[in-house]
Amino acid sequence: MRYLALPLLVATAAITGAAAPLPLVEPTITAVQGELLMAALPAGSHDLRLDDQPLHIDADGRYMLGVDRDFTGTRRLDWITKDGRSAHRLITVAAREWDIDRLPARLNPPADPNAPRNLEYEARREAEIAQVKAARADVSPWPFWRAAWQWPATGRISTHFGSQRVYGDVPASYHGGMDIAAPSGAPVTAPVPGVVRLATGPFALEGNLVIIDHGRGLFSVMMHLSKIDVKVGDILAQGDPVGRIGSTGRSTGPHLHWGLTWNGIKVDPEKLVPPMPVKTPEAGR
Ligand SMILES: [Zn+2]
Repeated sequence: MRYLALPLLVATAAITGAAAPLPLVEPTITAVQGELLMAALPAGSHDLRLDDQPLHIDADGRYMLGVDRDFTGTRRLDWITKDGRSAHRLITVAAREWDIDRLPARLNPPADPNAPRNLEYEARREAEIAQVKAARADVSPWPFWRAAWQWPATGRISTHFGSQRVYGDVPASYHGGMDIAAPSGAPVTAPVPGVVRLATGPFALEGNLVIIDHGRGLFSVMMHLSKIDVKVGDILAQGDPVGRIGSTGRSTGPHLHWGLTWNGIKVDPEKLVPPMPVKTPEAGR
C-alpha cells in the first residue's frame, strides 16, 4: 500500500497544483547483533515506528532500540518530521562473531526421562522466574538510560555477552549478560541512575539479585551478590551502591553477572561502557 500511495499523491498534486511533499528517505544506518542502539533524529521528529510498532522518541530526537543477538536482516524506522513530512530509513544489522566453545556431545548427555522430578525445586524456580518477569513488566517514562554509562564493577571480564557452548551439534543457551570477575565484597554500583524493581535472593541460579529500571523498558540485572544494599523502590543515582560482589546462586567463583534487557530483548552491556579501567599496570590482564 505504501508504494501505491506515492504515485497517487504525486498525481493528485499535479491535478490540484499543490506541492505534495515527497517522503524523505534518510541514509541507511548500521547496527550490530546484540547492540542497544542509541541514536537521534532531528529534534521534533515524532510518531516513530520500528517495523510498524510504536517506538519511543524523546522531544530532542533521541531514541533507543535493542537488536536481538540472533537477528539477521534489516529493520525499518518510520517517523514524521518536525514540519510534518513522513520519513523513513533502514537499519542494516551486521553479524557479530561470538565466543563459541565447541565440546563433544558426550559432555552433555540428554536428560534421563526416568529420573525422579524434584517438584519442590520446580515450584521454587517457577516462583523465582515469575518475580523476575514481574519486576520488568512495566515500561516507565524515566530518562535514566540517556546518561553516559559507567562500569558497575571493575575487574577482568571473564565471559562476554553472547558466548555459547555447543555440545556436538546441540547449542546450549547463550550467555545473556557479561561477567566481571572481582574479589568477594567489592562494590557493585549503579551504571546509570535507576529505580530498584527487585532486590532479593538467593535464587537458585541468579543468587542474590537486583533489577534496576533505567526507563523505557531498559533494565539492568546484577546477579550472584554476596550482599544487597538496596530495596525495592529506591531511586539510585549513578554510582550509588547496589550491593557487593559474591558467588551466590549458580556460580563457580566471585563475579558480577551484569545483564541488560530492552523490552525483553537481551543486549550487550559492554557496548555501552568505556574500556574497562585498569587499576595498576600489572592488573592489565
Ligand atoms: Zn554470567
